[in-house]
Amino acid sequence: MARLTAYNRKRDFAVTPEPPGRIGKSAGARRRFVIQRHAATRLHFDLRLELDGVYKSWAVTKVPSLDPATKRLAVEVEDHPIDYGTFEGTIPKGEYGGGTVQLWDNGTWWPQGENPQRDLAKGSLKVCFDGKRMKGGWALIRLRDDKTGFRRSTRHNWLLIKEHDDSARPGEPDALASEVTSVKSGRTLEEIASRSRNVWHSNRSETSEPEPKPRATAKRATAPAKKKPAAAPKPKPAAKKKLRKR
Ligand code: MN
Repeated sequence: MARLTAYNRKRDFAVTPEPPGRIGKSAGARRRFVIQRHAATRLHFDLRLELDGVYKSWAVTKVPSLDPATKRLAVEVEDHPIDYGTFEGTIPKGEYGGGTVQLWDNGTWWPQGENPQRDLAKGSLKVCFDGKRMKGGWALIRLRDDKTGFRRSTRHNWLLIKEHDDSARPGEPDALASEVTSVKSGRTLEEIASRSRNVWHSNRSETSEPEPKPRATAKRATAPAKKKPAAAPKPKPAAKKKLRKR
């Protein structure tokens, strides 16, 4: 549980639609990854790699670059629960990370080295992605000093770098910037935001969601949903059993 303490401390689950943090169960040899495009104070891309029951997480400040010569700053953030990997919706203004979250990519990753835990600790992790938009080899390299002016000096800054391979696009660092829809629902950030105003929890379904439901449906959901945000249970010992079933 200790690894998700920071995640839980930053959030009020009575207010935010994000899932409470619990350690998840491994999905097997191929680990999951997700990238969430997040329109917070600044638009950024949250890269999350499944490792040991949590998502190791970085906030990448620009769209991942397919040009190996163009490195992207990736600010290490707190571990996130595996449940977070399907989250798409709007975090209320004023809450931690307030803004709309879109599932921008997902799939599996695997380490190029033998021991990803050790490589992470050393600050040099080489991975392969098999996602819808992220493919092939990438490197995460930790910087030695915090010279970027980010508020929390305790946060480590990394670089996300595309490797030279078939999926690289030398000279086209912003090739992925035209990808603006959700891989889960096909929606743009604006469409997710407009729907989230009516429905607190649009994040529970694993399957692709169709276009926003007709007005009548959304209206019906408004009153009860606002009164009591559904998934607000604080993590309890009893909840653990339920989780294992997922
Ligand atoms: Mn974020």
